[in-house]
Amino acid sequence: MRLLVVEDDPDLGRQLTDALSNNGYAVDLAADGEEGLGDTEPYDAAVLDLGLPKMDGVRVLERWRAAGKDMPVLILTARDRWSEKVAGFDAGADDYLTKPFYTEELLARLRALLRRAAGHASAALECGDLRVDTRAARASVDGEPIKLTAHEYRVLSYMMHHQGRVVPRTELVEHIYDQDFDRDSNTIEVFIGRLRRKIGSNRILTERGLGYRLIDPKAEKITE
Ligand code: CA
Repeated sequence: MRLLVVEDDPDLGRQLTDALSNNGYAVDLAADGEEGLGDTEPYDAAVLDLGLPKMDGVRVLERWRAAGKDMPVLILTARDRWSEKVAGFDAGADDYLTKPFYTEELLARLRALLRRAAGHASAALECGDLRVDTRAARASVDGEPIKLTAHEYRVLSYMMHHQGRVVPRTELVEHIYDQDFDRDSNTIEVFIGRLRRKIGSNRILTERGLGYRLIDPKAEKITE
């Protein structure tokens, strides 16, 4: 899953990007409102500070929503600014945190937003006996832990959030790398190959010319 953080405080911005990438997300950081607004990459969620130079967060959010960007947005507000929160929710925010906050709480709220956006109620995503616990960024098959690299986890986590649906390779590329990463869609095939070796070769189907589909091989009905 790929996230955008819009935060002008450089220390907090760095802390947030570090914490989020350590928890299995690809993260881009924008340091002011215009930069945040101008970013046209597809994100799974955004963390948006409301007090921003050049263009304030509420305005950024209004413009995102007007442009049809429907990713979940968590706003960061200063203490004692309850009217900011109201303006944020009216502009289309999904959740908020008041500064200062605990990173753990931000992570938990983001997990909830991401899984709700993908239609899942629980923090542990399951597909048959394949399980991804988004709280610990860990995967297991039939209770046995699977060791994954950061990129393998991102691919699997994205596929688990979108299980059953064909995910085009370009979409995967857009959601597992941050902006600064040298992207090569061929490496996706490598990650998929490694994942198949680790979780079982029949769980990720290649839909020729379309993309990949994560399934529970025991539940899948053969219809043709
Ligand atoms: Ca600020």
